[in-house]
Parts: sequence; structure tokens; C-alpha cells
Amino acid sequence: MEYYEKAREILERHRKEIISGAEKTLQSTFEKGVQLFPDPSDLASVEEAQGFSFRLKEREKKLLRKIDEALERLKSGSFGICERCGEAIEEKRMLARPVTTFCISCKTLLEEEEKAEKIRR
Ligand SMILES: [Zn+2]
Repeated sequence: MEYYEKAREILERHRKEIISGAEKTLQSTFEKGVQLFPDPSDLASVEEAQGFSFRLKEREKKLLRKIDEALERLKSGSFGICERCGEAIEEKRMLARPVTTFCISCKTLLEEEEKAEKIRR
């Protein structure tokens, strides 16, 4: 499809943003760690600081995985096809949210089901 190239650009830009953002987080956490534990020979403290930043990155990791999956779908040609009904998803929606795998009506239905599920619980 014609908009694939545009979608790929958006996904790759987003990917780079997340990675550089995560690097900044790691760096500032490390700097904070150094301040908190001024003795650099205190290896346990450094590891603690790193563990903290890894936890922070959990969200980014999830996002990155979604982006990679979307890039895979671009390669395989299933990008922009709704996972639920198999219909083509609107180009506008795919460019606004390239990691999505559902068309608007399926997404709405799924959200309603989720809400109903929560009320039942
Ligand atoms: Zn659908």
C-alpha cells in the first residue's frame, strides 16, 4: 500500500526517540546513583541504580516491541489489516497510530467488552 513508506518512517522515528530517551534515563539514573553512592567501589549500589533504570524502561520496552511488530507487519504485508475482522484499517488511523492492529469499530467493541468484563468482576 502507498502509505506503508510513510508509516515506516513514523515508526522508525518513534523507535529512535524511545531509544534515545531510554539512554538519557539510564544516564541520569546512573549519575544519581553515583551521587547517592559516592564510593565507586560500591558495586552493589551501582547495580541497584542500574536495576532501577531497567524497571523504568519496562514501559519503553513494551512500546519498542509493539513498534517492532508493526515494522514486521509492514514487511509481511499484513500492516493495516484488522486482526479481528480482517478488513483494511483506515490509512488516517494507521498513520496516527501505526502500532494499532484493530479498526475503529473493532477497537470500540473490544473496549466495550473489556468494560463489561470489569463490571462483571
Ligand atoms: Zn475490525
